[in-house]
Amino acid sequence: MSVDELKSWIRAQKNEIFANDAVGTGCFSYLPGEVVWAVTKRCNLRCKHCSIADVSGEELTTEEGFGIIEEAAKLGHVKFAFTGGEPLLREDIYDLIEYASSFDMQVVMATNGTLITKEVAENLKKAGLERAAMSIDGIGSAHDELRGVNGAFEDVLRGMKACEDAELAIQLFTMVTRSNYHEIEKIIKFADDLSLWRIYLIYLIAVGRGKEISEDCLSTNENMRFFDYVADKQKNVNVWLKPICNPQYWAYLKDKGLVDRKDRIEFTGCTAGITRFHIFPNGDVTPCAYLPVKAGNIREQRFLDIVRDSEMFKALRARKVKGHCATCKYKRICGGCRSRAYATSGDYLAEDPVCWFGDGKE
Ligand code: SF4
Ligand code: SF4
Repeated sequence: MSVDELKSWIRAQKNEIFANDAVGTGCFSYLPGEVVWAVTKRCNLRCKHCSIADVSGEELTTEEGFGIIEEAAKLGHVKFAFTGGEPLLREDIYDLIEYASSFDMQVVMATNGTLITKEVAENLKKAGLERAAMSIDGIGSAHDELRGVNGAFEDVLRGMKACEDAELAIQLFTMVTRSNYHEIEKIIKFADDLSLWRIYLIYLIAVGRGKEISEDCLSTNENMRFFDYVADKQKNVNVWLKPICNPQYWAYLKDKGLVDRKDRIEFTGCTAGITRFHIFPNGDVTPCAYLPVKAGNIREQRFLDIVRDSEMFKALRARKVKGHCATCKYKRICGGCRSRAYATSGDYLAEDPVCWFGDGKE
């Protein structure tokens, strides 16, 4: 397929591709915003890339959780996402989902999928969950290898089937690393064969346990080839492939002329601390799951006060980014992954190190 054909394909599919209803990890313009609460760090798997492994402190209570939900609802029709750890290990998870869905919010969940039986899927649906994202990092033993538990792949397949039977919408999350890169093609085929709607292809950020496998992060050149691969692959599959933790993918689409003004597709790039807010199990509020810098804590301040007053959030909103991101012509629609900047330099405003666009020219 030629560039023009791919461009027409994107144009024809844009309402679905850019729909506001996925389980996001924040690198996209979910408006008016996305509040993600990692309800627990407990988990039944031992993923090599777990971003929450370092977090300590006591989990927020059910009442404190209800308070977050009420505050989030004041932001408007936000997406409210439950994640973990494994959120299904939280005993009050159905109460929390039910409470969230009693407000005008899209209620979604990221889960490893292994604990979803027929009964669990039905209860999630009944509680008001709109969509579940499940992780597949490889096919069969390749998945188990990255997830640290034998049999995890079979279990997530059962979870997916249970959701399908309960008519609970699902999408996939796939971690993209050097060690499972050769699995990506198979995962896309797997998802396309099952007529799944989306795969979020998540770039490994070296935080949490991921610090131990930082050499598995794709380099700039590898990331560039990955974008070429994704755009090319997209021409032949129906499942929408969406690189995550990679806001420069939108810059790439513009740069290749695959979307333009006429398409009326607006990208906002990295939304961390702008329209996306992450709450860790201990109540720490941060811009993103992969950016463990605290803007405030729910136990000390109201969530909306943190969102409004945090100096970090103000700097992110003003996109006070540095280095090649500061002068890049795509700063507004990308801004660089603030988590990767932090993970590699210790400065969340530093330039995104995995980019080839920032050449200093406006
Ligand atoms: S230089 Fe920074 S702002 Fe520009 S495209 Fe790359 S990551 Fe995005
Ligand atoms: S910090 Fe990175 S992972 Fe988080 S929202 Fe921004 S681009 Fe996405």
